[in-house]
Amino acid sequence: MKTIDEEARKLPVLAETDVLVVGGGPAGMAAAMAAAREDVDTILLERYGFIGGTLTQAMVESLVWYRKENTVEAGGIGRELEEYATNFGGTYPDPESTGRLLDADMFKCAADQLIIESGVRPLYHCYAVGAIVDQGRLKGVITESKSGRQAILAKVVIDASGDADIAAFAGAPYSMESRGRLMNVTTGFGVSGVDIAAFRKNITEYPGKIGDWSSLTVKGEEELFSAYFTHVFEQARKDGIIPKDSPLEGFWHAITEAGEVTGINVVRVTGIDCTNVWDLTRAEIEGRKQVLQAIEALRRYQPGFEKAKLRTIGSSIGTRESRKIKGRSNLTEQDVKNQAEFEDTIGIFPEFLDAYGIVVIPTTGRYFQIPYGIMVPENVDNLLVAGRCVAGDRVSHSATRQMMCCAVTGQGAGVAAATAIKTGKTSAAVDIAKVQIQLEKQGVRIR
Ligand SMILES: Cc1cc2nc3c(=O)[nH]c(=O)nc-3n(C[C@H](O)[C@H](O)[C@H](O)COP(=O)(O)OP(=O)(O)OC[C@H]3O[C@@H](n4cnc5c(N)ncnc54)[C@H](O)[C@@H]3O)c2cc1C
Repeated sequence: MKTIDEEARKLPVLAETDVLVVGGGPAGMAAAMAAAREDVDTILLERYGFIGGTLTQAMVESLVWYRKENTVEAGGIGRELEEYATNFGGTYPDPESTGRLLDADMFKCAADQLIIESGVRPLYHCYAVGAIVDQGRLKGVITESKSGRQAILAKVVIDASGDADIAAFAGAPYSMESRGRLMNVTTGFGVSGVDIAAFRKNITEYPGKIGDWSSLTVKGEEELFSAYFTHVFEQARKDGIIPKDSPLEGFWHAITEAGEVTGINVVRVTGIDCTNVWDLTRAEIEGRKQVLQAIEALRRYQPGFEKAKLRTIGSSIGTRESRKIKGRSNLTEQDVKNQAEFEDTIGIFPEFLDAYGIVVIPTTGRYFQIPYGIMVPENVDNLLVAGRCVAGDRVSHSATRQMMCCAVTGQGAGVAAATAIKTGKTSAAVDIAKVQIQLEKQGVRIR
């Protein structure tokens, strides 16, 4: 690649803090809230003008669509996000689960309040673009914003960017699948003008099932209800209403009494490396094009949608997979399918897998423990990585990428960062027993 030399310059220090969390998705929100609850100064840095991450940017409202009667969960901040949004008036009943669907736009407002009430210092419209490393220890990050190029210094940084940006900038090793193997990306959207009664009647008569979209599911679970648009796009392809090779397929989320169907997740853009700005540009343009094609197909073939029109569209493409760090430990398929236990557990997650066609719904009460080691990158200390980019293989990613699991790793990282600072240790050397005690005090089930 052609390069130029950038002149060395002194950077103003924008802020100093104990814990800096980069990225305001489910992992980052949980990390920042957990750290602040341990009474350390905490900044939550976010590149956009709102937080919530993929939930708000890509309208992924299905926080707990997997939850069934017997599902065992960690509780903690993940559960609080759902409860806070509900008390805020920003959730709907979830037709697939015993939980709630979060209204993506309302969650932008709820999340602001929650973060401020938690004592976290939010910093929006600020992009972390580099890492300040000194002798293997992270000292802070370089930022770019309307205020220019600056630095934020921190005792511990939590990388909750989803893409392991800070780990990569700091030189920590990571892996990433090739474009052909990465999961596709999606532009979420919602429509208004739906005849809700007609739509409800149609899905009662012809309910979608998990077996309609996954052949790799657990026996018995293929019959479970799924908010899946059956036949619409297949018919539209057959009739030439959308291109024959259109990848459109997928799900609806909430139905509102105002005649809206929200969080529609049917766009599929393939071959996108979300750490490449040209790919991101292509994905946004192709994603929005597919949204319009999807609405046309829904108007023609989905009863109730005849007069539907675009009401809201994700402010950014939604990424399912990019960098995964190499951690002190590595979560595996064996772990997530066999109720793994770890000495350094920081929380649990139900046996819920959803990616690459594999679907396991946690109907059984089985769950696995999540080890601290998957958040500790090799080579760089005082950096923790939480959320979908924690260390693990492909199948374990189908669990750790789930928003509730991201909240578990986020909360674990937040408490660990605070404990390290308060006990004079680095994040790699923190006393895990002390972290576990504090996590339990914060209401997290760790075993
Ligand atoms: C279409 C789609 C459907 C999905 N469906 C489900 C589902 O039904 N249930 C489920 O649980 N999960 C689902 N997922 C997965 C889930 O949404 C994500 O894996 C999860 O949100 C990841 O959380 P996170 O906090 O790690 O990262 P994110 O939610 O991606 O948040 C990362 C945050 O960091 C910010 N950021 C990134 N880089 C920087 C930087 N350099 N500087 C500053 N800020 C930065 C981003 O703007 C963002 O706010 C879906 C994902 C997609 C795309």
